Amino acid sequence: MEYNVEKIRADFPGLDRRFYGHEMVYLDNTATSQTPRQVVDEIEAMYYNRKANVHRGVSSISQEATDCQEETRRRVAGWIGARSVEEVIFTRGTTEGINLVAASYGQRFKAGDEVILTVMEHHSNIVPWQLLASRTGIKLRVVSLCDDMSTLDLEVYRSLFNERTVMASFCHVSNVLGTVNPVAEMIAIAHSHGVPVLVDGAQAVPHMRVDVSALDADFYVFSAHKMYGPTGVGVLYGKRELLESMPPYQGGGEMIGTVSFEGTTWADLPFKFEAGTPDFVGISALKKSIDYIESIGYEAIDRHERELLDYATAEMMKIEGMRLFGTACHKSAVISFLIGNAHHYDTGMLLDKLGIQVRTGHHCAEPLMHVLGIEGTVRASLAMYNTFEEIDRFIAALKRIAPMLV
Ligand code: PMP
Repeated sequence: MEYNVEKIRADFPGLDRRFYGHEMVYLDNTATSQTPRQVVDEIEAMYYNRKANVHRGVSSISQEATDCQEETRRRVAGWIGARSVEEVIFTRGTTEGINLVAASYGQRFKAGDEVILTVMEHHSNIVPWQLLASRTGIKLRVVSLCDDMSTLDLEVYRSLFNERTVMASFCHVSNVLGTVNPVAEMIAIAHSHGVPVLVDGAQAVPHMRVDVSALDADFYVFSAHKMYGPTGVGVLYGKRELLESMPPYQGGGEMIGTVSFEGTTWADLPFKFEAGTPDFVGISALKKSIDYIESIGYEAIDRHERELLDYATAEMMKIEGMRLFGTACHKSAVISFLIGNAHHYDTGMLLDKLGIQVRTGHHCAEPLMHVLGIEGTVRASLAMYNTFEEIDRFIAALKRIAPMLV
């Protein structure tokens, strides 16, 4: 079946914007993606018809709201290959999922224990572990890049494991380099040392099918807003036996069994980790973004994004002074670049004046910037609704501004 990008775009009213008299070209999908009508319709239906607190009573309206939320849990569990719905915890996003694991699972760590991270992590997979280190005295060990400055050095990764290693935590896909890490292999290596793994899947789920059971991931986290879904919602998948062994992260309503001043007991999974009223509206809408992705199909999305990526990369390389960061062969549709020695911010500002929406800065990956020897990059990141015409406009804009910058 032919990929009908115009039909897809018609579902995304948010793409229909103009800036400085130019049609918008939205190339900041790694930061957040636009949202299709089907997802927003569900949000509207929840607010207008089913705005009742979940898990709180016998009323029909509350039960309907609860069903809408729990339907998403079943949908997510099946979609990511979890063994049971109890293994799907709703969070505010990737960041909260990692903080939850570091704070809760990390309570068992002792001074001198080691957690392995990589140099290409987003700050949200660094700082929670640093906070834990300041409380417990654990040490962070960091996997470096190969000489290609794009892929992780697996020999270094292997060599970091020792009897003090208690956890490994790394991204599935880098939000700066686009590198798709060999997570199945990395998890198998960790498991051969008896070490559990957290995978930050924020940049994977919008682009590729993830099967947490096939990967044998112990924890896997992602955010709905990057996969055409609502803001403020994320998922933490955890293996049941690990989640059961962990203390609650936050206390409050819904996460308890019974409460008394003498002592309180916890609710069963998944509610033990879902204190307070969840974003049941957003959670309900998350299933619609999964439905949307599945209606197009990962294979078709991947083929389309790959064609755009290859085309854009080839055209960019023809521009004098172009410096690309992230050249792994197994790469997702993210292009980080600089033009000559021009500041990334200047390039981003000039592109903005031509309607091209990109991201500039360190992309919450300062340690990676240090390794690359730069302060930041311009980042163009693609999604299923981007078109070849948009890439042409992006390239034309780059050609126009490059002589002003080099
Ligand atoms: N990890 C990666 C790889 C990311 O790209 C991002 C978002 N830029 C995050 C974590 C944090 O996601 P969120 O802000 O949705 O919690």
